[in-house]
Amino acid sequence: MGQSISSVIIPSIMMTASPLQALALHGGSGTLLRQDMSPELEYAYREALGSALSLGWGILAANGSALEAVQAVVEALEDCPLFNAGRGSVFTAEGKHEMDAAIMNGADRRAGAVAGIRLVRNPIQLARRVLERGEFVLLSGTGAEAFAREEGIAFAPESYFFTELRHRQWLEARALERVVMDHDLPGKKFGTVGAVACDARGHIAAATSTGGLTGKRFGRIGDSPLIGSGTYANDATCAVSCTGYGEEFIRGQAAYDVAARMEYLGESVATASRVVVHERLPRLNARGGLIAVDCRGNVSLPFNTEGMYRAWQRTGEVAKVQIYRDECTTESALPH
Ligand code: ASP
Repeated sequence: MGQSISSVIIPSIMMTASPLQALALHGGSGTLLRQDMSPELEYAYREALGSALSLGWGILAANGSALEAVQAVVEALEDCPLFNAGRGSVFTAEGKHEMDAAIMNGADRRAGAVAGIRLVRNPIQLARRVLERGEFVLLSGTGAEAFAREEGIAFAPESYFFTELRHRQWLEARALERVVMDHDLPGKKFGTVGAVACDARGHIAAATSTGGLTGKRFGRIGDSPLIGSGTYANDATCAVSCTGYGEEFIRGQAAYDVAARMEYLGESVATASRVVVHERLPRLNARGGLIAVDCRGNVSLPFNTEGMYRAWQRTGEVAKVQIYRDECTTESALPH
């Protein structure tokens, strides 16, 4: 209490064993306080995080690739209205939904991203298609939507993206006359989603998907679809997915900053991600967090906000699902 958020050091999860399969996911960071959460809602979050984790873990356990696992996890979270991505995307200033997503493969650094797209049911599927096509990395707006149609990607009607809570959140943001990181509105705990994974071959991948900021201006693009800002993967360093105020994460090149520290300074994924989240981003007043994994399966999940929806698992270890800051030192099990 009374301590500035940027000065709070939250222990990240640091492990340094031989190569292991690993999977971590986030559902956004922000003002997540126990007193704002009903037991039912908290259960719903933990269950959604846990089931997305077990879906991705099943893919890794069956010898699937890190790329497949992160896509499947993000797709599952996009389908869940609790999170600010896909179906649960926040409203723009004009009362619409504009979504951003990116996916990157660490083995060859192929990447695909889409920005400012409307009515695409699973933006991460479209990002993956961009990656597979390989001609370009980032497609935006109507051009990306035309590409989606050519590729047979599913669209959904406007009503699919309408949720009562998001709508109320939008009305609150309008009343405040400002743009809001969705999980920072009191009582509204939703967030951007992301996943990072290390597969049995030691390859890593990252994926992020978001509806952006509530009340954002038409055409605004955040950090999530920008390779190096909100999403990055390179087998030589790490795979990263960020959540927070996109503008500052773009200015701080947050995801790449973690990788660069590992490459140039020889830092571990835990140290590099902790320094970025607790020292470098706060210099830009950036609030948020990230998840990161290296090709030995070391996982790090630092954040400088009150909480971050998160879950992770490694070979031989029990799955963990956490929300609040005070859970950082304990290991909470999956809900039954
Ligand atoms: N980073 C996202 C954006 O600025 C927001 C979030 O993480 O919730 O678009």
